[in-house]
Amino acid sequence: MTQSYATDDRPLGLRFVVEAINDVETETSWRGLCERRGDAALGERAFDEGRFAEAKAMLRRVFAEPELASAAPIINETLTAHQVTQQLTQLADGRWALRPIPQGPHDDAAATLLALGSFGLARWASDQGRAAWGICVAPGCERVFVDEGRKEPQRFCGTTCATRVRVAAHRRKQQSR
Ligand SMILES: [Zn+2]
Repeated sequence: MTQSYATDDRPLGLRFVVEAINDVETETSWRGLCERRGDAALGERAFDEGRFAEAKAMLRRVFAEPELASAAPIINETLTAHQVTQQLTQLADGRWALRPIPQGPHDDAAATLLALGSFGLARWASDQGRAAWGICVAPGCERVFVDEGRKEPQRFCGTTCATRVRVAAHRRKQQSR
């Protein structure tokens, strides 16, 4: 059985990061996400909305880069700035995972997201050998996604956006007849 980092439900993996960037704006939603994804203790970390928004913007810069050569310096800068070191940690459900634990004076929610995000994206990129991610191209949608390597390069965050755009294009075609 093959397992990829992005598709498994390993707590605090890339799915966690994607969900945090797309959906978390408040302390309540951060706590909820940490609890759902298997580490309630991280949800207790200090949450500053401004710092968290900056952290999301920083990671979005990586998702916006289609070339690994341009994304790598941003990832590396973040890894260095947060002195991300890995630790083998046993999770609440008993599984073991290699986890980036943010060190240094800043260990709040924003720093945690940057550490998990830069580490997760670095591991995913080295695994895939390309910048296997993106930002949804559907009008009005800015959700980030991890490209899990289907035949065509992924352009949408999910089937809802893909269908919406396809239906709109189809309607335009019919109207122009
Ligand atoms: Zn979308």
